[in-house]
Amino acid sequence: MNMNTCPKCHRTDIDRGKLMSAGGIAYKSDLHLVVLESNCRAYACLDCGYTENYVDPEYLRKVREKRLRHQQS
Ligand SMILES: [Zn+2]
Repeated sequence: MNMNTCPKCHRTDIDRGKLMSAGGIAYKSDLHLVVLESNCRAYACLDCGYTENYVDPEYLRKVREKRLRHQQS
C-alpha cells in the first residue's frame, strides 16, 4: 500500500519514511503476534505535512494466517 496523493490537500509531492520513537513504531495485532522491530511505513505530504501509515505486508500476512488458524480450531 502506498500514499501517492495526499487525502487532505490532494497534492502529490509525497515523501516516504518512518514515524520514529525510541526504536521505531510498530503495529501489534491483538492476536499476540511477535513484533521485533518497526513494521510500519509512513508517508508525508510535503505540501501540508499530513502523514499516513501502512503496516508491512509480511506482518499482515501473518495476521491473516493466525486468524485462519483460529477460525479452523
Ligand atoms: Zn497534503
